[in-house]
Amino acid sequence: MKFEDLNLNPSILKALKDENYTEPTSIQAKAIPLVLAGNDVLGSAQTGTGKTAAFAIPIIQHLLTEQRNQNGKRKTLSLIVTPTRELAIQIGESISTYAKYTNIKNAVIYGGVKQGAQTDELKQGVDVLVATPGRLLDLMNQGYISLQAIKYFVLDEADRMLDMGFIHDIKKILTKLPKKRQSLFFSATMPDNIISLSNDILINPKKVAVNPVSSTAETVKQFLYTTNKSSKTDLLLHILKDPKLEQVLLFSRTKHGANKIARNLEKKKIKCAAIHGDRSQNQRQKALTDFKEGKIRVLVATDIAARGIDIDKLRYVINYDIPNEPETYVHRIGRCGRAGEEGVSISICEPEENAFVRDIEKLINQKIQLVRDNPYPQTDRPMNQAEKKEFEREKQKRKQEHFANRKKKNGNQKKGFRKK
Ligand code: AMP
Repeated sequence: MKFEDLNLNPSILKALKDENYTEPTSIQAKAIPLVLAGNDVLGSAQTGTGKTAAFAIPIIQHLLTEQRNQNGKRKTLSLIVTPTRELAIQIGESISTYAKYTNIKNAVIYGGVKQGAQTDELKQGVDVLVATPGRLLDLMNQGYISLQAIKYFVLDEADRMLDMGFIHDIKKILTKLPKKRQSLFFSATMPDNIISLSNDILINPKKVAVNPVSSTAETVKQFLYTTNKSSKTDLLLHILKDPKLEQVLLFSRTKHGANKIARNLEKKKIKCAAIHGDRSQNQRQKALTDFKEGKIRVLVATDIAARGIDIDKLRYVINYDIPNEPETYVHRIGRCGRAGEEGVSISICEPEENAFVRDIEKLINQKIQLVRDNPYPQTDRPMNQAEKKEFEREKQKRKQEHFANRKKKNGNQKKGFRKK
């Protein structure tokens, strides 16, 4: 199936083309027509299956047919509630991406930050509101948000929402929603309490389900090396001695880390390139093309830069660090072993990341195979709270010194001083 077969508005199709989405994922192919036809939907799907687009695309399409202004101001017709700030931001970004050729506007609101920027945006009017429950209720109570006009409501990651104790918040939000609306309800798992909540929200829902994302992890052989922080580079070079690893997509959590890894590999004459947010679109494109053409062996990428890149027949993914969000791990390893090809993921874990591995194993419901033949095994223990504090203090100090030195150096250069 192609997106063109779903009767989508050309502006949406154009945006999807820009993202290089060629065909809908399973949940999209199932859910989009049902949502477009006006049904309530009960979706069993996890992050990583493409579920955001499964609800965002048909909602954008609905909004394009709506009268969206009232007294010259946008009225909020769609509300998407999701449990975490990260998910909220991601959903907001996805909507902006898919709606970039329309004048649909979204705002993302979440707690833990000052509310000023969020309320300013709300005052200007938004079509779609993406929110975490606590901040949503807070701003509703303060009169910044009215749900009176909501026609399209999404409850995302319902099981996680209940795990996080948001049930009362959700029930309060539900009482403020208009009775006549279309509701979409997504959850990775469907235990009794979730089914019961969905019964409170949905009317004659159509059910759609896709294999949980954890099962995509089953098609990838996963290995784990545990090591000390100081041995990571040596261990990576040891791993790359294996000629079977012809081409590798290597993930780094930070841009700075990605550059450092690339520099270390270059020193050892390993052909590589780094892609991340500080590199221009041209640089990124060139790196990707070089990688696809086999001119470079290791493509070092941050999670954001790797989003949406599709490399055919990629067999190896290396996690130079362990992501703190278990879903990110699943996204990462999902980059290899696509379309029936068997993939291999190799993760490198330092003591501070041991806990992240446990979270990942819980999500994917399996143990990652520990590699015992490891010349650089983990001997350090994770830091305790006091050590962590001290470490952060030191880091901050070093950072300040670095910037102070740089400022001094720049100042000297401006004055025409030459370094001897
Ligand atoms: P989600 O499950 O919504 O978090 O999406 C997981 C990832 O898949 C995101 O990085 C999306 O940008 C990407 N994605 C969603 N739909 C498609 C598609 N049809 N083709 C390719 N990538 C997609």
